[in-house]
Amino acid sequence: MKLPFIHRIPIIFITVSLILVSTATLSFVSYYYTVGRENLVETSLEQSNIKLATHYIDRIEKEIVDNDLTLSRMVDVNEPAKWPEMVDAIKKADLNVDQVYFLRLDSDYPLYPPYSYDIRNEWGAFRASFKVRDLDLDQRELNQPHHLHMERANKYFFATYIVKETRNGTRIVVCYQMNVDKIIALADRLLRDLQDRFYVSIVDFENNGVYGQPISRSSKYYQEKIFPSTLYKWILQMVPRNYTELEQGVQNQRRTNLFLIILSMLLTFISLAIIYIGWQHDRQLRQLKENFISNVSHELKTPLSLIRMFSEILVMGRVKDEDKRLEYYRIIYNESDRMSRLIANLLDFANLIRGIEHKHFEKTNISQLVSKALEAYRHEILKEGFELNVEADPEVPDSFADPNAITMAFLNLLDNSRKYSKEHKRIDVKVGRDNGFVTLSVTDQGVGIPEVERHKIFDKFYRGSDPSVRRIRGSGIGLSITKHVAEMHGGEVLVQSEPGKGSTFTLKIPIRKSPDDSRFQIPDSKS
Ligand code: ADP
Repeated sequence: MKLPFIHRIPIIFITVSLILVSTATLSFVSYYYTVGRENLVETSLEQSNIKLATHYIDRIEKEIVDNDLTLSRMVDVNEPAKWPEMVDAIKKADLNVDQVYFLRLDSDYPLYPPYSYDIRNEWGAFRASFKVRDLDLDQRELNQPHHLHMERANKYFFATYIVKETRNGTRIVVCYQMNVDKIIALADRLLRDLQDRFYVSIVDFENNGVYGQPISRSSKYYQEKIFPSTLYKWILQMVPRNYTELEQGVQNQRRTNLFLIILSMLLTFISLAIIYIGWQHDRQLRQLKENFISNVSHELKTPLSLIRMFSEILVMGRVKDEDKRLEYYRIIYNESDRMSRLIANLLDFANLIRGIEHKHFEKTNISQLVSKALEAYRHEILKEGFELNVEADPEVPDSFADPNAITMAFLNLLDNSRKYSKEHKRIDVKVGRDNGFVTLSVTDQGVGIPEVERHKIFDKFYRGSDPSVRRIRGSGIGLSITKHVAEMHGGEVLVQSEPGKGSTFTLKIPIRKSPDDSRFQIPDSKS
């Protein structure tokens, strides 16, 4: 099925783009989901800490207010004569009170205790803190405890005051000056069970520690709350004892999640890159195969048309001259030989591709094999204007090898030297021995091979990229067969070349004295 608009775009690009988009979206979503979840956890932790702080502040305030109500009950403003007695009872009752003052609403001078030299300091300090006129006492509800919390030089003033009315309608304010240390001890008692899990402290607005050391506000898990109605100049601070681990844990979790997301993205990209490279490789191979088919067809067509043309001339009996006839016969012979060599190459190549190998190893003298092969082609090569130098060492020992395969490899090299030579037509063939190998080299003075192509020319279907090379007939399988022949004997093919100056191909075949000479490992052709 062809989809409109997109059927011209290779499906691989569509697939890759879709995978990329979906991976990116997935990564984005999962990252935000993880961050969102972490924030949720943090928020709920924060909320439970706020609740906890509120709960403990309420407990402390409740205890203070309960204490206030007891204090209130212990005082009767109708009987000034008994005030000293009442105050003594309060002081003895362990109700955190330092002193009790009775005042009128219109004067800062206490009615009780009266000024005396003994209490001059307390009296003075009290008067400096408790300014009746500043407290809007007229507005206060009767018999309800109210609080005055102040910072004085290097200490704190904390008092509960209650406006009461005498029977004859006079309003008296009773002020209980509390003992701040005892109030702190009260807070300590109530906060103790919180201390197992939290660092707890109470500070004033200048961050001076009232109870415990001030806590740094930098942690995410830090909580603070002001006492709302009693000790309203103080702040309760708390942070979980394991806050560094909590922060570290969240940070590690975030890092791990990020790492996993990046890793999975990276793996997707790598897989896509592999798919893309594979696809490119496949495409190149397909292209090479297409070229190969057209090259082979051309290679077959040319000799076939020559054979047909010259045989037609001969059949029609138009050629009277014996020499001409002989020349035509030779052309027909040479062209059909070229065709059969090409077909043999193709069959061999087909076997190579399918992994089938017909090895016919026998005692072979490569020097003689080369001389014999040249007998058939020397004439043709010389006729094309080549200078052919052959140096075959007669001392080269016999070796177990496949003579047909070696001949085919040699003829491929020879044919290439012929094809890829230009003006400088000279071919040198050398057979020698080198350290346990028979070496067969073919040198030309032709176009040469650029450095970048030297490792590719042995690949199946590969043909040189230079247009002048492309114009020369060829199928791109000759050197891959030659390489295969070398490898099936446990040898190799080497190439030395200089662009514009020529090339030397050397076939190295190990000398094997017997069919099962194991000195050379013959690689498995299928691998
Ligand atoms: P073909 O010759 O049919 O193209 P081969 O496998 O024999 O295929 O050679 C592969 C490529 O190697 C050639 O296309 C050519 O570019 C290069 N080549 C082979 N032999 C020579 C040579 N003697 N001189 C220059 N280039 C060569």
